[in-house]
Amino acid sequence: MSDTEIPEEAPVPQPTEELSSETAGGTLMIDLRAIQANYRYLAGRVGRAECGAAVKADAYGLGMIPVAQALWAAGCRTFFVALPCEGAKLRKTLPEATIYLLGGLLPGSADFVAEHNLQPVLSSVEEISEWAQFCRQQDRRLPAGIHVDTGINRLGLSRSQVECLAASHKDLRAFRITLIISHLACGDMPNAPMNREQLAVFDRLRALLPEARASIANSAGTLNVADFHYDLVRPGIALYGGKALIDRANPMKQVVSLYGTVLSVREVKAGETVGYSATWKCERNSQIAIISVGYADGFFRCLSGSSRSERAHVFIGGQFAPVVGRVSMDMITVDVTDVPSEFARRGGRAELIGPHITVDDLARWAGTIPYEVLTALGPRYCRLYSPYDPR
Ligand SMILES: *Cc1c(COP(=O)(O)O)cnc(C)c1O
Repeated sequence: MSDTEIPEEAPVPQPTEELSSETAGGTLMIDLRAIQANYRYLAGRVGRAECGAAVKADAYGLGMIPVAQALWAAGCRTFFVALPCEGAKLRKTLPEATIYLLGGLLPGSADFVAEHNLQPVLSSVEEISEWAQFCRQQDRRLPAGIHVDTGINRLGLSRSQVECLAASHKDLRAFRITLIISHLACGDMPNAPMNREQLAVFDRLRALLPEARASIANSAGTLNVADFHYDLVRPGIALYGGKALIDRANPMKQVVSLYGTVLSVREVKAGETVGYSATWKCERNSQIAIISVGYADGFFRCLSGSSRSERAHVFIGGQFAPVVGRVSMDMITVDVTDVPSEFARRGGRAELIGPHITVDDLARWAGTIPYEVLTALGPRYCRLYSPYDPR
């Protein structure tokens, strides 16, 4: 390697003056190298198939631009977003990428979509006519994907619509079909019979359409056996460290850590209560730490301390400390009676997500999925990005 090829430190977003580790209630650390490692792991699993990436919803809340740059540097060339507004933003950063819109063609958006060189994944007869008509007006056979429904009954052409289009419709020849996709309903349960049924329907429908690359696998499908990989996989959550398969260990590297700042610690006497509606009563004299992250930051109110079997914890001073009382908008209260006072003090840091508490743990405690935990991470954090490997 010549001197000029030695990778430079890649640029990542920096904390702003308003949102620094001193001024924000929490610090959110996003490890772009872990995302790259996860990408390489998934790409390595799928053999000759291409590995794309779902970066919709601001890359699941982690920051679409830095995440997409890191993925591009790791070799990713095909990106999936939901909406034209997301695609246009991504296009500014990645002029060469292939960008698909999973939400299809929003009514009246064809001009904008074409101008930003985005590919709608057309999912209804109406969308196909609108795109075809636009292509004829422009006298260009623009590229697009086609979404067929194989059982989830969300987006996608039904079997009879595919048959009808294939038999009679000139619309399909007005544009260039680059991809045929479908989506698994039970992908997170790798042995669910519905997965195989969907593959069979997918193969039947594809055979009726013009030849194009095929894709059915989200993260779960990517982690499943090769039958699900087809030509292109489109993982999201696994890239970001979340668990994609319910009954398996999560093989992905953790990407996110989140730390909250202790605002104060107070003594609460046995018999007194903590927080709104006085839902939690102290059974012993306790030390309660008030930590500056609340439901407005995505620490869901349903994580409030209760007698549920698995309650939410933070990790502070080498110990797990339970969340007690109601989660408020801007803060939580945590029982730190057993935590050494050099950690449980004003200005101390508590891990909410990190080496001891995974995104999957937090999701389980909240009765939800890691997707919702990540996409709910609020705008009030000081965000720190690790550099990524430039190649
Ligand atoms: C979001 C999405 C994906 C990515 O799903 P993960 O479960 O996060 O891997 C793939 N395909 C479609 C159609 C999606 O909407």
